[in-house]
Amino acid sequence: IVNVTGLRKAFGQLEVLKGIDLKVERGQVVCIIGPSGSGKSTLLRCVNLLEEPNGGTVVVGEHELTDPDVDLDFARRGIGMVFQSFNLFAHLSVLDNLTIAQRKVLKRDKDEAKKIALANLERVGLSEKAHAMPSQLSGGQQQRAAIARALAMDPEVMLFDEPTSALDPELVGDVLSVMRRLADEGMTMLVVTHEMQFAREVADKVLFMDAGVVVEQGPPSQVIADPQEPRTQEFLSRVL
Ligand code: ATP
Ligand code: MG
Repeated sequence: IVNVTGLRKAFGQLEVLKGIDLKVERGQVVCIIGPSGSGKSTLLRCVNLLEEPNGGTVVVGEHELTDPDVDLDFARRGIGMVFQSFNLFAHLSVLDNLTIAQRKVLKRDKDEAKKIALANLERVGLSEKAHAMPSQLSGGQQQRAAIARALAMDPEVMLFDEPTSALDPELVGDVLSVMRRLADEGMTMLVVTHEMQFAREVADKVLFMDAGVVVEQGPPSQVIADPQEPRTQEFLSRVL
């Protein structure tokens, strides 16, 4: 459902992605690991064209997002994104955060948007916070609200960029268990993470990135438990 080929991205002289190939099949969970600055966030942002690639192609579902004639707003509807920082609208209640894009983008009426919002808050265990303001939630709750907001748009694939790395350690587990549940429900997920335990247990495939290239990829039993490349071994010896 996601097919990235030969993806290149530079910021000025700095080549950040040097020809990335990446495939995510429907229902798969693919985790991207690698050192800081290796290009993981840039790759994720290129998948929904938040960054414009300098070369290569990105296809998500039916749409080639790198086609100059593509309707990007339409093509992006199938892609949910969750960032490290939660990016909720601070001046809107949790419920309004979940309904606004449904109404504006999907043209759902008020009652339908509300119904879908509440169903997705329940999915992430936040039903009782529908009328709270984001500032009244813990970091973990805010992140779960951000996940529910993305889910309310019925995405075909969810992109997560280190969704737990801004959280206090005791809040990480709640967010990871929501993500595990989504994976069990068959959601297609592309996840940048430093949570090796999560990658090991949930991922169908793990990509190790370093310096703008995919150094090694395969099932977690291979890439995490039995890495072949020295750079992967060195990285894992630091984080495990
Ligand atoms: P981290 O684990 O720290 O989040 P990352 O693997 O996500 O790292 P990226 O954020 O993709 O790394 O950054 C890769 C490189 O691209 C870094 O050297 C970064 O400084 C550079 N970079 C990222 N975004 C920009 C930008 N908008 N302008 C210039 N350089 C950028
Ligand atoms: Mg990053």
